[in-house]
Amino acid sequence: MLNIKTTKTTNPKPLPEADNPLTFGTIFTDHMFMMNYETGKGWFDPRIVPYQPLNLDPSTMVFHYAQEVFEGLKAYKTKEGGTLLFRPERNAKRANDSNRRVCIPEVPEKDFIQAIRELVKLDEKWIPEKEDTSLYIRPFFIATDPFLGVRPSHTYLFIIILSPVGAYYPEGLNPIKIWVEEKYVRTVKGAIGDSKAGGNYEASLLAQVKAKEEGYSQVLWLDGIDRKYVEEVGAMNIFFKIKGKIITPELSGSILPGVTRDSVITLCKDWGLPVEERKISILEIAEAQEKGTLEEVFGTGTAAVISPVGSLKWEKMIIEVQDGKIGDLSKRLYDTLTGIQLGRVKDEHGWTVKV
Ligand SMILES: *Cc1c(COP(=O)(O)O)cnc(C)c1O
Repeated sequence: MLNIKTTKTTNPKPLPEADNPLTFGTIFTDHMFMMNYETGKGWFDPRIVPYQPLNLDPSTMVFHYAQEVFEGLKAYKTKEGGTLLFRPERNAKRANDSNRRVCIPEVPEKDFIQAIRELVKLDEKWIPEKEDTSLYIRPFFIATDPFLGVRPSHTYLFIIILSPVGAYYPEGLNPIKIWVEEKYVRTVKGAIGDSKAGGNYEASLLAQVKAKEEGYSQVLWLDGIDRKYVEEVGAMNIFFKIKGKIITPELSGSILPGVTRDSVITLCKDWGLPVEERKISILEIAEAQEKGTLEEVFGTGTAAVISPVGSLKWEKMIIEVQDGKIGDLSKRLYDTLTGIQLGRVKDEHGWTVKV
């Protein structure tokens, strides 16, 4: 149990107006959680303070060597006025899996969840209530030694901030266009691709910019060695429905193990659909499309939940999926997952946790 000291803001911000689109990641609540770490002392001084800038020395290690890990989950307001988190123990565990990989000290899972709960409770009035809105929770860890030189830091900050968010795609659940990247890779097995570390995103930026310029909203990464097996999309895992089978790349060590991915696999199995976690090449997808057996493609992630894919551009080819319409499975998964998250659909797996 953490003994969290709370200092409330004396200057609360106005809540967003009801018609604010709550563009993802742009608005932050009144408070934040912070906790320090020092080698020999462990984690100490857990506190909730008014949301504020950090005061860090320019030599702070995270600025130079990127020793950082983050998480992402959401709190949802139910019709009855309660607040639910979705599988937060998964994020707590994954944070520690990521931390171990980049030499950041672990935080006990129950402390990670307690910090989220207390912060969300304090800023509960910031959870938006309109359709498809939620409170995005961003825990993160940074190396804070003021030191130039490559080694793990001796001091860290664990911080949690909150952001009310609207629908990830303001235009609705429309299929997105995806660019299959040939030149750059995001990661390789053995690197940090299966950790939720900021450095992975840095490696992805240039391809993302190039794809945007070409009119594509996301990049699909191929594996870094053979350059032919599908890995994942931007901040989402990817699924294909081919001839009734649901196929998603196996967790090979270079793919982020998404909580939404795991939930989708579980739901599909519940519904009696055949699920295969295995290697899938981009060629297999192109061939399925040619044969007319590519039924659906969708991405999964906390931010957008389910993102139907309308087309994939690979080399000179455009792989169209289902005439660019939303597939039935994508829709059913979106409705079921958001239904469970909002407490409207029976939560058979005990995924939601009351705040
Ligand atoms: C966070 C993330 C995902 C999705 O994970 P969820 O737990 O479902 O939100 C997928 N890929 C990458 C690279 C990510 O960072």
